[in-house]
Amino acid sequence: MQVPFSNLNKQYLSIKKEIDQSILNVISESAFVRGKYVADFEKKYAASFGVRHCVSCGNGTDAIYIALKSLGIGRGDEVITTAFSWISTSEAISQTGAKVVFADIEPEFFTIDPKDVERKISSKTKAIIPVHLYGQPADMTELMLVAEKYQLKVIEDCAQAHYASYKGKKVGTFGVAGTFSFYPGKNLGAYGDAGAIISDDDDFSEHARLFANHGSLTKHNHIMEGINSRMDGLQAAVLQVKMKYINDWTEQRIRHGVKYNQLLVDNFNGSAPKIREGCKHVFHLYVIRVKERSNLQKHLQTKDISTAIHYPMALPYLDAYCHLGHQPADFPITYEYQSEVLSLPIYPELTDTMREYVVETIRKY
Ligand SMILES: *Cc1c(COP(=O)(O)O)cnc(C)c1O
Repeated sequence: MQVPFSNLNKQYLSIKKEIDQSILNVISESAFVRGKYVADFEKKYAASFGVRHCVSCGNGTDAIYIALKSLGIGRGDEVITTAFSWISTSEAISQTGAKVVFADIEPEFFTIDPKDVERKISSKTKAIIPVHLYGQPADMTELMLVAEKYQLKVIEDCAQAHYASYKGKKVGTFGVAGTFSFYPGKNLGAYGDAGAIISDDDDFSEHARLFANHGSLTKHNHIMEGINSRMDGLQAAVLQVKMKYINDWTEQRIRHGVKYNQLLVDNFNGSAPKIREGCKHVFHLYVIRVKERSNLQKHLQTKDISTAIHYPMALPYLDAYCHLGHQPADFPITYEYQSEVLSLPIYPELTDTMREYVVETIRKY
């Protein structure tokens, strides 16, 4: 049996009629950049989180950058983020001219450790960017306490965690802003690049909206310089169709995640991911830890099961950050985990038979 790592085509085929029609509508109305479909999507997306504003933009990396710029963060400032994430999170900080300061992760949950965040705070620290990694909410109670104590802004990187929740509250609604990516492979994926920022703060959102669109809300009226980071109509139309199904798809991911856990925990030579108590982990990725990772990965490949590694080298140890001179002992958990993590196939279109085959293959190994 072949188990691919993802199957976007199968999802497309399940909603083909609606998608094709919505794409045709955008083309026939020439609503290519921003416009009606984007405005509708922003309204629906904000409403789905119960917040006042959604500012769409070109991608999830820009969403973080625009949010930081809209908080006035730049040269001379420091922003603390997790050592274990996709590079977008730290890249966006550096783009503003601010300094990236990494913190280690919690051993149980792969998300930023609030205690290490507190240790990294200096007089220059302005903000914290937790990442709800793999779909698991970060420890928002502790992080918000630290942020309040030191008067820091919190931007939540929700690129992997659409509609995850922490103690009944959706992630992205704790800090001043939540940023999202709609890259095709994300839980809510467009058919190209797209991103958004959600917020309840009026001034912040207005600045973000201006900044993302050349500093203007109306044509030729540039209040300031900004950037060109806009969602296009085709992506908004696709996302509007997909929003009808996202709750079902999220439930399917969770169901697979929970089943994997039931069958794998204590049943193989490694560890299954824990779900933080009282939280909704939306399983963008299902990540186990194994000591002999490359052997297991090769074995699974010979059985036609595709896996991936998120991420083989943590941010502080990438060449891009060698100027920071970090050592393994600076982030001991992250350093250990980067050589152990292995992502198994998880997506709504995965069948129970496929999932059982993956579990059996791992247990027999
Ligand atoms: C995908 C991702 C992003 C950025 O998204 P793009 O839309 O690809 O720019 C940011 N942060 C994390 C954690 C991601 O996984």
